[in-house]
Amino acid sequence: MAFKLPDLPYGYGDLEPYIDTCTMLIHHTKHHAGYTNNVNKAIAGTPMDDMSIEALLAACDGTNTAVRNNGGGYYNHALFWTIMSPNGGGQPSGALAEAINSAFGSFDQFKDAFSAAAKTRFGSGWAWLIVNADGQLEVCSTPNQDNPLMSFAGCSQGTPILGLDVWEHAYYLRYQNRRPAYVENFFNVVNWDEVSNRYQAAK
Ligand code: MN
Repeated sequence: MAFKLPDLPYGYGDLEPYIDTCTMLIHHTKHHAGYTNNVNKAIAGTPMDDMSIEALLAACDGTNTAVRNNGGGYYNHALFWTIMSPNGGGQPSGALAEAINSAFGSFDQFKDAFSAAAKTRFGSGWAWLIVNADGQLEVCSTPNQDNPLMSFAGCSQGTPILGLDVWEHAYYLRYQNRRPAYVENFFNVVNWDEVSNRYQAAK
């Protein structure tokens, strides 16, 4: 059972001006498609072939670099597209807002912590908001295409509900070296309804 490149839930140009059309097009049709094809090659004909992507990454011990890098890349981007929207931005409401206030003090304090994780990740990687094993929210970051589903990712294991790609391929065409500006503008397209749905499912 091969994984399938998901369609974007909006058009390539719909996140303008915060994320540009060319970046979205290349990111989806080249980068994400590449991870999808390569994870499928890595699991074909093995016992991993019928596992869900979440189970595959949770079982991954890090030594199978094809599964680690491409399975991570497949999952991370599939999540990333859904937690953005042309109608995004603002702040969460309801149970997620309460949980953010409880964990971080306020939305602004959460935003500062998440932004710091994104800006200080050296080289390529991701910033995350996760629901940890105790059902609590945490911010963390991981290198490359690792993520908090993986036991060795260097942060608490948990379920990502918000992720930000800070690989240069995610922002360089529009922002060049200005990663902090990309991180700030990301908050204009966050789909908090989807993040809330993922929080409800994970907590
Ligand atoms: Mn990417």
